[in-house]
Amino acid sequence: MSQTQNTPSQQPDQSAETRQIQRIALYGFLLNLGLAGMKGILAKVSGSLAVAAGAIDSATDSVASAAIYGGLRLSTLKTSRFPLGLYKIENLISVFVAFFIFFAGYEIVRQVLFGAGDHPHISLSIIVFLLLSIVLIWLFGRYCLKLGRRTESPTLLAEGKHRQVDVFSSLIVLGAVILNYFGFQFQFLNLDIDQMAAILVLVFIAKSGWELLTDGMRVLLDASVDAKTLDRVREIIESEPLVKEVVSLVGRNAGRFRFIQTHIVLRTDDLQKAHRISDRIEEHILEKIPHVERVIIHYEPDTSKYRRIALPLIDSDGQLSGHFGEAPYFAVVEQHLDEKNISKQEILENPYQHLDRGKGIRVAEWLVQKKVDRVLVQEDLKHKGPGYVFSNAGVDVRKVSANSLSEALEEAI
Ligand SMILES: [Zn+2]
Repeated sequence: MSQTQNTPSQQPDQSAETRQIQRIALYGFLLNLGLAGMKGILAKVSGSLAVAAGAIDSATDSVASAAIYGGLRLSTLKTSRFPLGLYKIENLISVFVAFFIFFAGYEIVRQVLFGAGDHPHISLSIIVFLLLSIVLIWLFGRYCLKLGRRTESPTLLAEGKHRQVDVFSSLIVLGAVILNYFGFQFQFLNLDIDQMAAILVLVFIAKSGWELLTDGMRVLLDASVDAKTLDRVREIIESEPLVKEVVSLVGRNAGRFRFIQTHIVLRTDDLQKAHRISDRIEEHILEKIPHVERVIIHYEPDTSKYRRIALPLIDSDGQLSGHFGEAPYFAVVEQHLDEKNISKQEILENPYQHLDRGKGIRVAEWLVQKKVDRVLVQEDLKHKGPGYVFSNAGVDVRKVSANSLSEALEEAI
């Protein structure tokens, strides 16, 4: 079945939102890359190991932002043309870069332990540039958090929180640089202030480098969401009574985040209702499954050629029962919509006939589960529990006066 045909597809505001999140990930990449370059120059000029560690920190973050950007870009692509190979290359690069970061970190540790031990030369302009970088990161982080809360995007929230951590690690570097500028000296375990700050910042680098490595490795091993999680998503979708069929369901991992895409058939022609249901399903998935960045739901009305009809019976011979909940048997027949002939017929025992209370509602829920489209009854179900269950599920209830199954089917055509 084609994805676009007959499919109201995702809402336009949603894809605009996805593009906006994507753009911010791109800005994060550019900002961190710029800062890495600037701090790299400052480190070279000053000879400060703390500033060098800060430069590696920003470089690590720019790679992480690039990986997030790649993952987000994938979320807007169609399933059939999903370039899994390309995506794996992106992650291979992150893993490679993670190793490079660990190597750079190791170099700093070596410098701290066995370096010449020269004191850095700090000028006022270095302090000004570092201060500027902290302000930029702080503003960017606040922007990510604000937009993340509004769009409920886990990617943006994580990005914003990370920028807050970056502000903290940058403040450590700035503190060391300022103390050096004023000629303040302090030794601890044979380490001076600059070396201590460098070691502290390395802890932050190790954390983001480790995340880059494990996220990248996970995608390299398997980019699809695990079967258990997909089963939970399917359960959530199927628990919506108007869902007739889940045609397809796929999930992808992008770093820590998950993208879910599904194609469902709804038992309604009402577009507004279908839209509301799709929204509700999305909400439930986001609420119950962690780290889901985006849910894309394609829905279409039921266009099958058959209608499933249920009737309460007194016996298995096809005698209609006047009571809905108490009927010992139910017939479920499949009728062709055009030719009106019966293609399939099942007689089922009513599993709830002996309940003391609420059997009508239980029976109605059971029939909804059996994917029934229409119910024929002699009793009036309007304003009664089962009637509400059926109307919620889009099941059509018709009152008939006939006494046998075949007459009832004739009557209700
Ligand atoms: Zn960072």
